[in-house]
Amino acid sequence: MTYPLGSGRPHARLGILTACVLAAGVCAGAGNVGAAPSTPVLTHEVEAVFDIDGHTVTLSDRLILPAGLDHLRLGAGLTFTRISGPGAAPLDAAAIVTRVEDVPEQGGPWQRLDVAAAGLAGGGELLIEAHGTFHAPVDQVEFSRENVGGEISATISAEGIYLSSMSGWLATADGALGTYDLRLDTPAGYETVTQGQRIEHLESGGRLRTRWRSPDPSDSLDLVANRFFVTCETIREGLESCTYLLSDDPPLRATYLERTRAYIAMYEEMIGPYPYAKFATVENWFPTGYGMPSYTLLGGQVLRLPFIPYTSFGHEIAHNWWGNSVFVDPAEGNWCEGLTTWCADYHYKELEGAPAAREYRRNLLKDYAAYVDDPAKDFPLSAFRSRHSGATRAVGYGKSMMVFHMADRLIGRERFLAALRDVAAAHRFRAAAWSDFLGAFGLGDDFAAQWLTRTGAPSLALADVRFEAGAVSFRLRQGEPLYTLAVPVRVTGPGGAETEHVVTLSGGEASFTLPVAGATRLAVDPDCHLFRRLDPAEIEPTISQVFGSDRHAFIVDAPKEPLAAAALAFARAFAESDTAVVSDGVWPADDRTAVVLNPGPALLARLTAPGLTVSGRTIFLEGRRFSLDAADLVYAAADPERPGRTALVVLCGSPERLPGLADRVSHYGKYSWLILPAGQGRPERGNWAAGASPLLAVR
Ligand SMILES: [Zn+2]
Repeated sequence: MTYPLGSGRPHARLGILTACVLAAGVCAGAGNVGAAPSTPVLTHEVEAVFDIDGHTVTLSDRLILPAGLDHLRLGAGLTFTRISGPGAAPLDAAAIVTRVEDVPEQGGPWQRLDVAAAGLAGGGELLIEAHGTFHAPVDQVEFSRENVGGEISATISAEGIYLSSMSGWLATADGALGTYDLRLDTPAGYETVTQGQRIEHLESGGRLRTRWRSPDPSDSLDLVANRFFVTCETIREGLESCTYLLSDDPPLRATYLERTRAYIAMYEEMIGPYPYAKFATVENWFPTGYGMPSYTLLGGQVLRLPFIPYTSFGHEIAHNWWGNSVFVDPAEGNWCEGLTTWCADYHYKELEGAPAAREYRRNLLKDYAAYVDDPAKDFPLSAFRSRHSGATRAVGYGKSMMVFHMADRLIGRERFLAALRDVAAAHRFRAAAWSDFLGAFGLGDDFAAQWLTRTGAPSLALADVRFEAGAVSFRLRQGEPLYTLAVPVRVTGPGGAETEHVVTLSGGEASFTLPVAGATRLAVDPDCHLFRRLDPAEIEPTISQVFGSDRHAFIVDAPKEPLAAAALAFARAFAESDTAVVSDGVWPADDRTAVVLNPGPALLARLTAPGLTVSGRTIFLEGRRFSLDAADLVYAAADPERPGRTALVVLCGSPERLPGLADRVSHYGKYSWLILPAGQGRPERGNWAAGASPLLAVR
């Protein structure tokens, strides 16, 4: 299984992180997430000879099929030279293989080999010999905000070899796993890398012969080869860490080797033994961000972003436990991104400290509010397969991670981690379902029903708060459908001393009294421990609220060249559509979200934000001063025409810089404002203060 990087913005293909870059959207092929608990396994013995000039691979795959398969799935790019069944009996390819035309959710045309027609309904040996020509151009591969852009499945060229499982270069069967033994023949200098362990490496006569063995079942296999600088070190007996880099880069290599060692140590302690004999960090020559069993394939640019080794790289390593070796039983939904996010992205924030962890949880709730505002976009966790939009990320990653967080709070860290270790050990190279985790946590059907099979999130309201001499009393309310919630309540007593309480709300309304003398302040779930729909007053305007909208209206006051052309280029890049239009100061009358480009002074005066003043080309922002000569400002503001909605304001110092801002901004949705230095460079960024929470009462 291939896991896209990270869990930050729902970037299209590479999923990445907090501040961006790639983000990948597709967590393994939909419908092919994992496998049922007792899963048939195909055994592959592969020989592959690569001709780089001809963009071709000549393949021989000796398969042992288990009984009961219906068909094998093979790539449309393969031409069969020989297929033979048990006892080397030749089979007529034309009679058993049919081409299946483009079925969108199955990723284009493929070839269907009928197992019964091949006389293998009861299982047995099948030899497939074929050659495939793969030469997809890689220069169109890119990432965009929500869409997979130009992703390719296979190419063989002097720049490198990339054969993803999506190309169907090796046979797969729906609902079955595979083990692999590959003998690969490449031009000398083209080092191969794939899952499992390299057990042979022999260069002679201008050719390199390598052999990889991947004895642990996986749902597919991807292969990469290039002129890599390979460095390996032993982590401990039976476990190697390697880097496959396209340049000799000792500091980069040292960083990734050090991080690999640290993450594996962290996760072995947290979850259990690392499941493979190696972990490799592999540089790709075009942009990717995938985590495969025992390696990760990262585009060169991403690999060099300074924060990647400390964020999404760890997420990809954690997938070696969750997803790659403990498979997802799709029947109850994909739990794996939520748990990987808990173990990686969120855990790193916990290590940073409580405020960072709180901010992370609050951002997840803000994302849910921004991207899943429309109930039609919501779905229960039991229906999550993979992410392909802001809404699927907010639920499939965010809500899922919060469900693990709530389980951790309910049973305590020690029991929670012990349960994770139990599930990992019991389901190693087998599928696990949500119910396996909830069973291990000791959480029953009610928890599953309200968080997994129900759509939505509870909303809380606070009423009738009375600060009395010896106690504070209050009422909590929730709407239908009702949840059973362990609601954290923080009470501030005399001298600022804070006490933490938990009250259980299961009906629509309940009264509580907490025996705190001289209380001055009461806050309900101030640290966002519950997955809930934030009240609009709890949320400051953020850029993600603008991304959460499907349609945008781009507004420029009296557009003149060259601003008009630059604004149109920005609009098209931002909307990821050629049809985006820019209007002359006209506010949208429909539900489109306003994006205002370089507003004149009168309009700007209505797009206010706390702590922001713009005077000519000078910006005063939260006590600091910036010039539009050297930087651009992008911020989220309350829509002056439509209460409760957020508009985006772009103040760009130069029309030439405007089109490029669309992509740069897309990586920083959780912030309210960005100061983007001219050229490249990481923006300064921050959030406006949220309004007074309706879940807060002060004496
Ligand atoms: Zn992931």
